[in-house]
Amino acid sequence: MSASTIRKAKKLVESGGVEKVGDDLYQIKSSSDPEKSYFVTSDSCECPGFKNFYKFHHGKGLKANCSHLEAIRIFKEQN
Ligand SMILES: [Zn+2]
Repeated sequence: MSASTIRKAKKLVESGGVEKVGDDLYQIKSSSDPEKSYFVTSDSCECPGFKNFYKFHHGKGLKANCSHLEAIRIFKEQN
């Protein structure tokens, strides 16, 4: 995972952009559009980056990641 993804994720958590809305469901504000937010679980995300990952890396056995999934990981460590 790139350093910029981690940086973005930290910023999301620090700015209060992560909200727990269910057992394994979080609502995370989009960093590019404050009007928008994504529903994220610990292993899936609605954002285009996550969806594109599987489109481009399909069948390579890689696990998709994005700043939102990383934000949840950081959020859980802090809470
Ligand atoms: Zn995402």
